[in-house]
Amino acid sequence: MIRTLIAFSLFVGVIVGVWFLADSLFTAASATAPNDGFTQISGILSTAMMCFAILLAIRPRFLEPALNGLDKMYRLHKWLGVGALVTGVAHWLIKTGGGPGKGASGLVDVATQTVIETLRGPARGVAQPAMFIIFAFIAVALITKIPYRLFAKTHYLIAIPFLVLAFHSVVLLKAGYWAQPIGWLTLALVAIGTLGVFYSLLGFIGVGSKVQATVENSAYYPELRVLEANLKVDGAWRGHKPGQFAFITTNKKEGAHPFTIATAWNPAKPSIGFIAKELGDFTGNLRQQFEVGRSAKIEGPYGRFVFEDDKPCQIWVGAGVGIAPFVAHMRQLASTPSAKSLYLFHSTADVSDLALAKMKADAKAANVTLHILISPRDGRLTAEKIKKAVPQWKSASIWFCGPTAFGAALKSDFMRAGLAYRDFHQEVFKMR
Ligand SMILES: Cc1cc2nc3c(=O)[nH]c(=O)nc-3n(C[C@H](O)[C@H](O)[C@H](O)COP(=O)(O)OP(=O)(O)OC[C@H]3O[C@@H](n4cnc5c(N)ncnc54)[C@H](O)[C@@H]3O)c2cc1C
Repeated sequence: MIRTLIAFSLFVGVIVGVWFLADSLFTAASATAPNDGFTQISGILSTAMMCFAILLAIRPRFLEPALNGLDKMYRLHKWLGVGALVTGVAHWLIKTGGGPGKGASGLVDVATQTVIETLRGPARGVAQPAMFIIFAFIAVALITKIPYRLFAKTHYLIAIPFLVLAFHSVVLLKAGYWAQPIGWLTLALVAIGTLGVFYSLLGFIGVGSKVQATVENSAYYPELRVLEANLKVDGAWRGHKPGQFAFITTNKKEGAHPFTIATAWNPAKPSIGFIAKELGDFTGNLRQQFEVGRSAKIEGPYGRFVFEDDKPCQIWVGAGVGIAPFVAHMRQLASTPSAKSLYLFHSTADVSDLALAKMKADAKAANVTLHILISPRDGRLTAEKIKKAVPQWKSASIWFCGPTAFGAALKSDFMRAGLAYRDFHQEVFKMR
């Protein structure tokens, strides 16, 4: 969370800071355009945040280490979408409330000025409808009551009104900014956003990270409504670290769904396993979707929930199907043991003796101390219970995967007890 907050604040801070090099809310104001400064900075901020959000949406791997994984990058994408919405609304309200903008100044040559002048009309005209369409799409994304499928099917259409607003932003950028860093920065961001839009519309997202796969076996745990499936992948898979996730497409119309990879990578036996719970529309048909012999497309690996730190001890908390990344890590440790003391707390409301037996075997082979809490019998897992079971918790890091709210509660309990913020790692099973 902290990296998302830092990235968001840094991005907004740089834009505003560079803008103040060229202008200010007061020097920009004039009798004819009292709010020109606000109009310009709110417009630039809204466009800039949309461009950064588009860059994140094309899943750039080089940003994963800094932003702590694609799942967190989608969270920043969401915040930027909300930021673009808020500053866009402010820009529109100021503009419709505050009178016309200042005319072009002498800093751009007459030719460019003439071209820009001719485009200013259309650039103003198209902005409002494009803005309303974008607002509607952002609203669909934010209202989680709207089925994910509908959101996923419409979200990439934001690209079209974005291009219109990019045109609006460039043409109506104050002429004086063209020769200033804020002008170059805005143009660079709009170029990145526009390239990102075409990269997405032309279907390049994930290119180079996609492989064909075939379901080679699966096991269903009816008590848990969970399916464990292994898929044989073709040669292009570049391997993965336990804890990473991938997008699986078994049905083009349904689109890709992210699942944590639940197996260690062994190039000699090129297969990848997933543990998926029947939660919704697509996952409600897991057994059909992962029938043996069925082909699938896998895109990945992504994510930074990879258990890498310098702590002598790690405490893992896998709630429900959130056990998946820990199963993958235990299977890796069976062949490459760790020097760390490792404790796994698995809390579950449902019980499958077969699944628990497999987990106990994986934990034994990986030298992990396993604690199983069956909530109807043992009550809820709490920070107190973990601290009691692992007295050296202060020298440990905590790795959590499961319901977001449970993770947040556990995190604040451990923060209050003195665990350092950076030592609590949480995988987010949500991208919206
Ligand atoms: C990084 C990550 C790792 C995950 N790992 C696992 C795992 O190992 N095992 C497991 O059972 N589940 C995992 N999930 C959750 C899994 O992706 C969703 O449960 C699944 O996509 C639900 O699809 P549905 O159509 O059945 O759900 P719906 O009924 O459509 O939606 C239920 C919820 O699932 C989410 N969701 C739906 N479709 C998608 C999609 N295409 N992409 C992203 N989120 C979606 C939405 O937030 C929605 O609120 C993971 C999610 C993420 C983000």
